[in-house]
Amino acid sequence: QTMSWGYGPDNGPDKWATEFPVADGERQSPVDIVPGEATYDESLKALNLQYDPSNSIDILNSGHSFQVTFVDDSDSSTLKDGPISGIYRLKQFHFHWGASDDRGSEHTVAGTKFAAELHLVHWNTKYPSFGDAASQPDGLAVVGVFLQIGAENANLQKVLDAFDSIKTKGKQTPFADFDPSTLLPGSLDYWTYDGSLTTPPLLESVTWIVCKEPISVSSEQMAKFRSLLFSAEGEAESCMMDNYRPPQPLKGRSLRASFQ
Ligand SMILES: [Zn+2]
Repeated sequence: QTMSWGYGPDNGPDKWATEFPVADGERQSPVDIVPGEATYDESLKALNLQYDPSNSIDILNSGHSFQVTFVDDSDSSTLKDGPISGIYRLKQFHFHWGASDDRGSEHTVAGTKFAAELHLVHWNTKYPSFGDAASQPDGLAVVGVFLQIGAENANLQKVLDAFDSIKTKGKQTPFADFDPSTLLPGSLDYWTYDGSLTTPPLLESVTWIVCKEPISVSSEQMAKFRSLLFSAEGEAESCMMDNYRPPQPLKGRSLRASFQ
């Protein structure tokens, strides 16, 4: 029996390739985004995000992060346009963050790490379900948003206030009427490239859309993220932090920018 994956010295990103060989594949994520090497593509459309707050269902401690899950049985919370074609439905959002404010994002910008990174995960409705889409080359589209230390972000507070109910792995609590568009930056300028899930099984199915403009988070709010635990109730307590995968080789892929 193999140890389950995580972010520790014995089961962290450096070890994932043993059980998931695609970890060394041709389109792995995240990557370091070097703005000067991204190509402006005037054919890239603006992102068209339409979210219905009533689709928000619950918030879960997965043992790797926490996620807010959405009803996805109709086209009521969708991502269209941008670099993709067709209709993608919102499935969940989650974050990655550091043990301190100087790291935590998965993507980096010319080597710069942010304190955290938000991922809004959507699946292509040309496939029957999220599960089917997750292994297709055009199956998923993830919008990434950097969190930069600064002013307190009031739009994050409802999420942070739920943490006391999901402190340990496996805990879940209702999370109704949340509008994820309140977590987006003012500008939706983005970089895009073909990549993968950043957690096992690391499937190479993601069109990445990384927003240029970060949103703000206070240092106190970041401390609250670290109050969550990787561990289940009754296990030795292990604070949830440094749950990010470092940048992977670009391997000849092109990065495109929606802006000049
Ligand atoms: Zn993620």
